[in-house]
Amino acid sequence: MIIARTIDELQEAKRERKGSIGFVPTMGALHQGHLSLIQQARKENEHLIVSIFVNPTQFLEGEDLDSYPRKNEADTKICELAGVDILFMPNIDAMYEADELCIGAPAIRGYILEGEKRPGHFDGMLQVVMKLLNLSGATNAYFGKKDAQQLALITQMVRNYFMDVNIIPCEIVRDERGLALSSRNVYLQGDEKERALCLSRSLKRATKMVMAGELNVETIKREMFNVLKDADKVEYVAIVDRAFNALEEVEIGNTIILVAAWVGKPRLIDNIWI
Ligand code: AMP
Repeated sequence: MIIARTIDELQEAKRERKGSIGFVPTMGALHQGHLSLIQQARKENEHLIVSIFVNPTQFLEGEDLDSYPRKNEADTKICELAGVDILFMPNIDAMYEADELCIGAPAIRGYILEGEKRPGHFDGMLQVVMKLLNLSGATNAYFGKKDAQQLALITQMVRNYFMDVNIIPCEIVRDERGLALSSRNVYLQGDEKERALCLSRSLKRATKMVMAGELNVETIKREMFNVLKDADKVEYVAIVDRAFNALEEVEIGNTIILVAAWVGKPRLIDNIWI
């Protein structure tokens, strides 16, 4: 595995590679969720690039940029064992200059739900993903459904800017009790691990209601809020179509149910596609 820390090193490592390039961008502290993307990309491409970059422009003032878990040594081993060809770990100066040209998240879909709670987050996310997709020269780039709104906005960016890359959505990986894996789960202490399960429980409850024939969005959301009482603060429960438009009734095959809530220190998100 080649470790590239500068743009030149990345270009050098890519030189003369023929065939498809799979790319998995991450912020590191790799877990089984990341690994499932890496494994799928490994199977589906001749070359595999993974990036680890804790992107400052997608963190808001007061968020956990400085304390975000960093585990470069363990991450490097995981990537090596997973058969990654190039691990791209740039520093901030390699990625940004002063007074940059910026792209912005769309005015509606970029400023609801996550975008409303974290205004500016998606601008920074799209900025870095644009850079990373261009740098990697990816044929196929893999993103988790865990960050459903992020995935939808990246798909839109690729469509709107006519970018030559396939965005591949990947299933959410959970622990044995149903908690969606996240690098931020390490912040959960004591009973918070137990209480954090209410997010996935609320989604399971919603799914059961839909399977029993209940399609009314308000009724389902009310029931989800009941299940979410174990969280310290629920930021939103939303039921939208796959393009993130509001729904009054669940449309089976075209719906995403999302939840964001604080449990102890971390703000957790989860969702299910119905
Ligand atoms: P992050 O390091 O949090 O920026 O995540 C990098 C990629 O891994 C993103 O595409 C995430 O959606 C994806 N990811 C994170 N957690 C999970 C999970 N539990 N299951 C599937 N994909 C995930």
